[in-house]
Amino acid sequence: MILLNCGSSRTALPVSEISVRSVPNPNQGKIAKNIILMIGDGMGLTQISAGIYENDNFLNFEKFPFTGLMKTHSYDNLVTDSAAGGTAMACGVKTYNNGVGVDKDGIPVKSILEEAEEKNMMTGIVVTSALVNATPATFMAHQKLRAFTEPIAEEIANSGVDFLVGGGKKYFDRRDSDNRNLSREMENKGYQIEDFITHQRLQDVHPKADKKFVYFTADDDPLTKITGRNYLPYASKMGAEFLKSRSENGFFMMIEGSQIDLGGHATNFKYVMSELKDFDEAIEKVLNFAEKDGETLVVVTADHETGGLTIKEGSKLNKVKPDFSYGRHTGTMVPVFAYGPGSENFTGIFDNTELYRKMKAALAMENKSQ
Ligand SMILES: [Zn+2]
Repeated sequence: MILLNCGSSRTALPVSEISVRSVPNPNQGKIAKNIILMIGDGMGLTQISAGIYENDNFLNFEKFPFTGLMKTHSYDNLVTDSAAGGTAMACGVKTYNNGVGVDKDGIPVKSILEEAEEKNMMTGIVVTSALVNATPATFMAHQKLRAFTEPIAEEIANSGVDFLVGGGKKYFDRRDSDNRNLSREMENKGYQIEDFITHQRLQDVHPKADKKFVYFTADDDPLTKITGRNYLPYASKMGAEFLKSRSENGFFMMIEGSQIDLGGHATNFKYVMSELKDFDEAIEKVLNFAEKDGETLVVVTADHETGGLTIKEGSKLNKVKPDFSYGRHTGTMVPVFAYGPGSENFTGIFDNTELYRKMKAALAMENKSQ
């Protein structure tokens, strides 16, 4: 580390040697066997910048050899919501805000996760929201509105996804719209169902060899990191290893740091930073996995920015002075980070629908006709 000294009255800030920080990318140009897509909900460039400055000038984002910028607008709005943003990345189509896995006319469109299943790949979802929340739902469900949470739960129960970790237990086993117990139904279809009540820590749960796996982390949205949530990094590593060990044909996994967005809505900088740090720890686990594995493309991005966060003058290392323009989503482009086989294609400025096509190209999957 070089220390810049601009005179005795000023405190020198550390300067990073960027080229040293990105990890070796040995399988560049090859076809990927697995994809781990990591979405920081509401995570714009300022959230990441502030996170780096709040953490001694380093987060794992700096390890990625390729970066790009992504436009996030939806079909009908320059400022997207998570449903339209998720649908663009999951299904490759622009839809209206609130649409889940459907096109602008409300017609269901297959997601990359569903297409991976058709290729006999394994699939996984790990989130820090309820599993029925907009972002995860866009990979597993098709509904005209994100508010249709119980129908979304029904689609998740039928989705065949092999590894599920997230909140939202009540949408499965204590439903308002019917008396079905989807957890029981999933058990009958070969799932091992576990939850935060019987096992407080995911670390204490042992997946059975011949079962698909669900761990409900909360009845609705899980705790914040500050109030004690502790599973995201562990679940990310566990999911990757679970899926790899059981698949001949590779896997697709989506991991979401769901609550970076909630911190932005609350214009609560500590909330945003703690959720971002947790997400960064998950990134570290995933990069460690991918480095060992050699066949996994890792893509990290966001669906949109939340809060219009800025870093104000007077900010210091580990003491950022933040300001939010307001507690809603914004239309600014979001960064994309990529590592592993195919990562070289995630550069430049592109649309969020293009992310879907780039991931499919990395897996050498043909594009759907529509
Ligand atoms: Zn939001």
